[in-house]
Amino acid sequence: MAEIINGKAIAAELREEIAQDTAALAAQGVTPGLAVVLVGEDPASKVYVSMKEKACAAAGIFSDEHKLPATTSEAALLELIARLNADERIDGILVQLPLPDHIDEAKVLEAISPQKDVDGFHPYNVGRLATGNPLFQPCTPYGVMKMLERTGVELKGKEVVVVGRSNIVGKPVALMCLAEHATVTICHSRTADLPGKVRQADVVIAAVGRPEMIKGDWIKPGAVVIDVGVNRVGEKKLVGDVDYAGAQHAAAITPVPGGVGPMTITMLLYNTLVSAKRRAAAK
Ligand code: NDP
Repeated sequence: MAEIINGKAIAAELREEIAQDTAALAAQGVTPGLAVVLVGEDPASKVYVSMKEKACAAAGIFSDEHKLPATTSEAALLELIARLNADERIDGILVQLPLPDHIDEAKVLEAISPQKDVDGFHPYNVGRLATGNPLFQPCTPYGVMKMLERTGVELKGKEVVVVGRSNIVGKPVALMCLAEHATVTICHSRTADLPGKVRQADVVIAAVGRPEMIKGDWIKPGAVVIDVGVNRVGEKKLVGDVDYAGAQHAAAITPVPGGVGPMTITMLLYNTLVSAKRRAAAK
C-alpha cells in the first residue's frame, strides 16, 4: 500500500504555525490583513470566500470583506482595488474569480499591487517565479511544494511529470519543481504517448480535471503521486485525476478529497503572513 500524503494534517500543522507567527506579529503591532473581494452571487465562489474568511479568523488574520453586486462596473472595482492598494492595514488582496463577463479579469488582476498579490497571479509575480526570484507564489502549486517538503520528498535530480499546463496549477508547479532542481516534463492534451511519459516519472503531479484519467499501470512502482484534480462524480462523490485504488504500488499518494485541497487556503494565509512580515520589517 502506498503511504497516504495527508493534506488535511499537513494543512492543520501549517495553520497552527501561521497562527503562532500571526500572534507574535500582532504583539509587535502588526496584524496581517487580507481583503477579499467577491463580485456577484456565484454559489461556489460564495462558499470559497466564506471558507477563506473562516480560515483567516482562525489564524488571527484580519479579513476585510467586500461583497459587491454582479452589476458592479469595472471602473468601480478598479477604484476599490486602488483604495485597498493604498490601505496600510491590508497585506493581501484577493479577488475571487470568475468575475462577471462585463469585467476584464486580466485588467483587474493587473491593478492589484504586486506587493499585495497573495494569489500570485499578477504578471509581475509570474515573471518573478519564472526568473527564479519569487515574491508571491500561487497558492495551489505552492501547497503542492509544501506537501512534498513536509513528506520529505527530495526533488533534486528527479524526473517530475506534470500533467496539465494551466496558469494556475500546471505551469507554476513545473517552475517550482525546476527551481528545486528536478528534471521537469509538462504534458497536456496534445502530448503524444502520455502513458509512456508518466511511466518515467519519479514524481507525478496531475492537474487535468478528468476523473481517474491517469491509470494505475502508468505509475512507476515507488513513484510519488500528487493529485490536484477535483472531479465530481454523481451526486456526492469526489475523485481525483489519478486512479487511486490502481496506484497503490506508488511510494506515496495524495487522496481526493483530503490531499491538495486543504493546502490552497493554507497557502493564502501563509502568503498574507509573509506579506505582513515584510510590512513589519519595513516599519
Ligand atoms: P484547466 O482546465 O485550466 O487545465 C487542464 C489541463 O489539463 C490543460 O492544460 C489541458 O491541456 C490538460 N488536459 C485536458 N485533457 C487532457 C488529456 N486528455 N490529456 C492530457 N492533458 C489534458 O484546469 P486547472 O489547472 O485549473 O485545474 C486542474 C484540476 O485541478 C481540476 O480538477 C481542478 O478542479 C483542480 N484544482 C484543484 C485545486 C485545489 O485546491 N485542490 C485548485 C485548482 C484546481 P490543454 O492545455 O492542451 O487544453
